[in-house]
Amino acid sequence: MEKVVIIGTGCAGLTAAIYSARANLNPLVLTGTMPGGLLTTTSTVENFPGFPEGVDGFQLMQHMQKQAERFGARVQFGTVESADLSGDHPKLIVDGKEIETQTLIIATGAGHRHLGLENEKKLENKGVTYCATCDGALPMFRDKPLVVVGGGDSACEEATYLTRFGSKVYLIHRRDELRASKIMAERAVNHDKIEMVWDTVVTEIHGVEDDEVTGVQLKNTKTGEESRLDCAGVFVAIGHVPNTQIFTGHIDMDEAGYVLPRGGSKTSSKGVFVAGDCADQVYRQAITAAGMGCMAAIDAERYLGEQDQ
Ligand code: NAP
Repeated sequence: MEKVVIIGTGCAGLTAAIYSARANLNPLVLTGTMPGGLLTTTSTVENFPGFPEGVDGFQLMQHMQKQAERFGARVQFGTVESADLSGDHPKLIVDGKEIETQTLIIATGAGHRHLGLENEKKLENKGVTYCATCDGALPMFRDKPLVVVGGGDSACEEATYLTRFGSKVYLIHRRDELRASKIMAERAVNHDKIEMVWDTVVTEIHGVEDDEVTGVQLKNTKTGEESRLDCAGVFVAIGHVPNTQIFTGHIDMDEAGYVLPRGGSKTSSKGVFVAGDCADQVYRQAITAAGMGCMAAIDAERYLGEQDQ
């Protein structure tokens, strides 16, 4: 039986791995389908303490993994198919094999929220994308008008990044005020290649018959007026959904699926701890996820100590 299994290799999972490895607990760390987590899809991270010039998100995650492995963490590529948290020890099915563990740290993060439009799925990777840093430089977007949907830091960051490639970037937001932090918002609003489209929602994406995005259908939320905007790309940046589906019914969660921690990182299930974006609807920062990962590792270590007594 494992002592500590950590699901997730984002900031939360890898920080938990560093701490539990340094406590000689030899943690098994499962990557899930996105090794390194969401930070690997961002460009420069400017607000992680210790890097005055910023740090590349992918590189930061690589360093965290190496740091954890140096102390004995075992990082294994694997996806958890199901979990049984009803017994004395959590049990997981990982790629068809059962893993039993004394403690489990859930650090599964969150995935991109979708608009839920009929053509969105049909045009995914044909102009619809959820990651400007991953896809923005593709030839299909070069010198073409591009659309970013959202009003948070992600949308502002993506829109600013895309000005390197597109002929013009339309930032479409459903309200007349951005949710983004002041610095990110100002960078976007003041950029001469970005046009703000306020009080507007995307009601459909055009281009299925051409097998590539050709435009979006827009609706003004105040006037009800509808219009079409031609573009080659739709970058959806409207927030995230926690990756907690496999734990539904096993541990307490809120309505949106975020795990509800109970004092520190404990969950409603014995020996199960939680860290990072899958339990954080409010802060969702790399540094807060890392802090929660540290808490979960310390809580798991103390729990193991209590079991030994
Ligand atoms: P977010 O802050 O939750 O913002 C989501 C945005 O999408 C909001 O403006 C929201 O509109 C809009 N939205 C949500 N559902 C929508 C829908 N169905 N249709 C149209 N618009 C919709 O998400 P985020 O921007 O991904 O940021 C998440 C967290 O990561 C934040 O804490 C942020 O500070 C952080 N972050 C930091 C950086 C950085 O510092 N480098 C970069 C990216 C993200 P409303 O405003 O009307 O609700």
